[in-house]
Amino acid sequence: MADNLLALKPLTRSTRLWMPKRVLFTPAALEEPWGQQILERVSALDLPVEELPQNRLTGLRGEDERATYDIAKHTLAVVTAPPSAFKLSPIPPSADWQFHLAQGCPAHCQYCYLAGSLQGPPVIRVFANLPQILANLAAYERPGDATTFEVSCYTDPLGIEHLTGSLAECIRYFGTSQDGYLRWVSKFDAVDDLLDLPHNGHTRCRISVNAASVAGRYEGGTAPVASRLQSLRRLALPRSRGGGEYPVGLVVAPIMPIEDWPEHYGRLLDEISEALDFDCDLTFELISHRFTPGSKEVLLNWYPKTSLDMDEASRTVKRNKFGGTKYVYDSNTMKTLRNFFEHEIAQRFPQARILYWT
Ligand code: SF4
Repeated sequence: MADNLLALKPLTRSTRLWMPKRVLFTPAALEEPWGQQILERVSALDLPVEELPQNRLTGLRGEDERATYDIAKHTLAVVTAPPSAFKLSPIPPSADWQFHLAQGCPAHCQYCYLAGSLQGPPVIRVFANLPQILANLAAYERPGDATTFEVSCYTDPLGIEHLTGSLAECIRYFGTSQDGYLRWVSKFDAVDDLLDLPHNGHTRCRISVNAASVAGRYEGGTAPVASRLQSLRRLALPRSRGGGEYPVGLVVAPIMPIEDWPEHYGRLLDEISEALDFDCDLTFELISHRFTPGSKEVLLNWYPKTSLDMDEASRTVKRNKFGGTKYVYDSNTMKTLRNFFEHEIAQRFPQARILYWT
């Protein structure tokens, strides 16, 4: 690490890496060379490994939803991605396409975006057939036109990277891609193994952040925001200063109009500005809090005592073209929040692009 990096700011505490209590392998996953690579990693960490008799995951339910949640969040299952994983879906406004190296996340965010999106217990499933998943992506690139691929829709890829190596493999793949660009986002901070990868500017690393009071209250099991920002700094710094020289981004989410929110979010933007006090290719994505009837039900099962505001009466209903319903803030609140962020970001980061507000 560069001396000048240390001199500028002492490194904040790195979060303890997530270690599952059980690692399950399906027979099909063990047949995959990438599955064997994961087996070597988890064996080197002395994690208890079990080979399942069949390719289905069963027996992971507890006595109630909360017990099932606890079992699942301590379990890593190495499986092969089903055929449906090879038919990609668009993911506006974040990217052209989404693909998955895993499904499930070891953190405990009380507003988790995965609630209601994934079926069954929230076991962390990682895919042993990653090389095939990557080889399939070329067919989705638009020749001669930058095509973006988001890999963090169903997992936090950095939170499990020490167990899989899969994010690094994706970065290497896109480093050789003609028109494909990778995007990932995380609330973790262990980026050491990513800094020297040959990314060729084809990966944008983003860190998800929030006001300290929101992160502290609702983002269990994640790295502290200050550590995330130091990791983003290292990813963005030029190689000559010990960094990864990646294009980077901040995802500010979920934005909530908590008491004194301009002060809290203003402080967050100041902290970002301190961490990124050098020229870099920087984007912002701004996402206000929302929930659906399905996600609310799942979240209240997982976190029955949450103080998260999910009161339908104080929200506006938004319907999508498939008939789905979500609850968002009313248009005045949205407008006020949006204006604040656009103004404050322009003041502090005149070179940055805001990709979207939603
Ligand atoms: S880091 Fe993201 S995916 Fe993981 S628990 Fe939090 S919101 Fe869910």
